[in-house]
Amino acid sequence: MLKIMDVHKSFGPTEVLKGVSINVEKGDVITILGPSGSGKTTLLRCINFLEQADRGTMEFDGERLQLNAVKKKDKIRLRKKTAFVFQNYNLFRNKTALENVMEGLIIGRKMPKAEAISIGTQALDKVGLQARYNAYPHELSGGQQQRVGIARAIATQPEVILFDEPTSALDPEWIGEVLSVMRTLAQEGMTMLIVTHEMTFARQVASRVLLMDEGVIVEENTPELFFGAPQKERTRQFLKTLQ
Ligand code: ATP
Repeated sequence: MLKIMDVHKSFGPTEVLKGVSINVEKGDVITILGPSGSGKTTLLRCINFLEQADRGTMEFDGERLQLNAVKKKDKIRLRKKTAFVFQNYNLFRNKTALENVMEGLIIGRKMPKAEAISIGTQALDKVGLQARYNAYPHELSGGQQQRVGIARAIATQPEVILFDEPTSALDPEWIGEVLSVMRTLAQEGMTMLIVTHEMTFARQVASRVLLMDEGVIVEENTPELFFGAPQKERTRQFLKTLQ
């Protein structure tokens, strides 16, 4: 469904991605692990065109593009196939939960308001926020705000949801409810690419686990083998740092 091949990205003299390739099939739940600064966020941002890769190829539903030369209108069109869930939620502070979810539908998808309300409320119901449609972000807990972020992603019916450390900014008490929503989405067959530090989640929910380090993918494996019998010494070292 989505293939990225040999993606490179530098910021100034620093090469952050040094030839990353990932093959995402429909229904895959791929967790990307790795130390801070290894390029995980940059990789997701290149897939979503929030950053422009310097080199590399993307193949999405059979359409092949060079990532350093994607036209603006193709970016806008392809971006609609993905949705991004940000570490810090990125909600509009002056809009309610429902308005936050509706925004992308009305502005991005040109959806009539009545339909956006219907889809927006369904998405909020799905993440367990049926009682909070009209709450503003400051009236919601961190966990609830991130669930609005996930509802906003679901509502656009993307082919892939890109999660960038969705629980890293949360107080520990709110992490479980967000992971639980993500677990349900995974069980329902949503295709997900997740940068995370939540090892238990990766172990239990992922179909594949990737370790990134210094701009390359060091190991790609099933969760059982990744955590139980990793192939690479670098993976063993990484897992040791977590103990
Ligand atoms: P973390 O787990 O800490 O979020 P990460 O693996 O997601 O780390 P990235 O956020 O992709 O890593 O960052 C990789 C490197 O690229 C870091 O050294 C970071 O400082 C640098 N970097 C990221 N974005 C930019 C930018 N816009 N301008 C300059 N340098 C950047």
